[in-house]
Amino acid sequence: MTKIYDVTALSPENIRRAQTLREPDAIESMERAMKRVAEAARVLAAGGLVVFPTETVYGIGANAFDETAVRRVYAAKGRPSDNPMIVHIARASDIGQLTQMLSPQMVKLADNFWPGPLTMVLPKKRSVPSVVTGGLATVAVRLPDEPAAMELMRLADCPVAAPSANLSGSPSPTEAGHVIADLDGKVDVILAGGRCRVGIESTVVDMTATPPEILRPGILTADMLSAAIDADVVYGSRSTGAAPRSPGMKYRHYAPKAEMIVVEGQRDRVKAEIERVKSLNERIGVKVGVLLFDEQAYIEAAHDFYARLRALDAEGADLIIAGALSEKDGVGFAVMNRMMKSAGYNIVHV
Ligand code: AMP
Ligand code: MG
Repeated sequence: MTKIYDVTALSPENIRRAQTLREPDAIESMERAMKRVAEAARVLAAGGLVVFPTETVYGIGANAFDETAVRRVYAAKGRPSDNPMIVHIARASDIGQLTQMLSPQMVKLADNFWPGPLTMVLPKKRSVPSVVTGGLATVAVRLPDEPAAMELMRLADCPVAAPSANLSGSPSPTEAGHVIADLDGKVDVILAGGRCRVGIESTVVDMTATPPEILRPGILTADMLSAAIDADVVYGSRSTGAAPRSPGMKYRHYAPKAEMIVVEGQRDRVKAEIERVKSLNERIGVKVGVLLFDEQAYIEAAHDFYARLRALDAEGADLIIAGALSEKDGVGFAVMNRMMKSAGYNIVHV
C-alpha cells in the first residue's frame, strides 16, 4: 500500500507566509506537512522507497547506501540496471560521502548553482555502491532546490539515489498525479507537492572531462556554467538530440503512448505542415494532438512539456504532431533534446 501525503504547504510561498508573515493558517499547514515529511524520512532511512517533488521533476528515492533499496527503485520503474542514478544530498558538505576529489571548478559550480537544477558527475568514492552508478567509476550528484526534498533528506540523514518517478520510458512526472498514475502500489510513500517549477530534468555536467562536458542539457546552459568557472564548458555529443548511431535502433525515452512526429523548419511552414498532416490524419479517423510552443517562451515550454505529453495521452491522442523549437544552445535546445527522444527521432523537415 502506497501512502500519499500532501506536502503542498511546503511551497516557497506558503513557507514565506508561515515564517516571515507568521500567518497562523500557514504555520499550521506547514507544521502538518513537516510531520508527514518526517514520517517519510523514517520510511526512507529504514530502506523504503519515497517519491518526492523537486524543482525539476518528481524523484523516486532510496537510501543510496542501501543496495537492496536501490534495487527496488530499478524494479519499481522497470528500469535497466545499467542506467545510473543521480544521488541527491541536502547540504553541499554531504558531497564528501560520495567523492573525495573536489576541484576548484566543482566547488565554484556548487557555490553558484546549488541548491538548483545542476547535476555534477564526479569521481566516485569506493563506498558508493556500484548498483547506484551502473558500475561506473563516477557518481552523479545534485542538491535540489525544493523545501520538501531538502527536509526529507536532512531528516533521513543519508544521500538519496533518485531517478525520475515515472515508469521507465514514459514522460517524466511534473505533477503528483503523474506519479500516482505510474507508481501507485509500487512505492511506500508519495510526497505530493504542486507542479514542478522547472519541468525538465537537471543539466548533467561531467566534471571528470576536460573541458567539462554537458551530458544532458537543462535550464542551466553551457554559457551559464562557463561564466561561473571562467573556463570552457561544452555540449557533449549525447546532449545534441541527434539519433543514436546504431542502425535500426528505434530508441524512445520520455515517450507518450501516442505516435509522435516533430516538424522542423521555418515557423510559418511548420505551422502549415502541422495543419496539413493533421487534416490528412483526421480524415482517416486518427485522433491528432498538436504540441506547439511559442518561440522564445522557452522557460514556459520546459515547464509544460511533459505535462502536455501526458495530457494529450489522457485525451486519447493517437498521433502527436510537435513543432520544433529553433534555439540551438539554450533552454529551447534542452526542450528539443527531450522532444526528439519522445518522438523516437521521428522528424520531418519543411
Ligand atoms: P534520471 O535517473 O531519469 O534522473 O536520469 C539520470 C541521468 O543522469 C541519466 O541520463 C543518467 O545517464 C545520468 N547519469 C547518472 N549518473 C551518471 C554518471 N555517473 N555518469 C554519467 N551520467 C550519469
Ligand atoms: Mg528519467
